[in-house]
Amino acid sequence: MFGDPADHEPDRPSWDCRACGRPWPCDPAREQLAAAHGRVELAVLMWDHLEEAARDMPQAPASELFERFLRWTDRPSGGH
Ligand SMILES: [Zn+2]
Repeated sequence: MFGDPADHEPDRPSWDCRACGRPWPCDPAREQLAAAHGRVELAVLMWDHLEEAARDMPQAPASELFERFLRWTDRPSGGH
């Protein structure tokens, strides 16, 4: 699913977006993920990403990673 270099996907181990360079998931990535997955499925997926990111960035505070990876799935923007 991560084949197109134009996609907003994470570069590891920095977890910055390959397309726009912002911390992943950037806004376009969130929109793509929310569009492609149901809410529960999305939360499970993002938990997996969070755990991988925590391994890649052991210095990052857990609360910060939670905000970044999980918080937004709790209230989808609904902007589409
Ligand atoms: Zn991006």
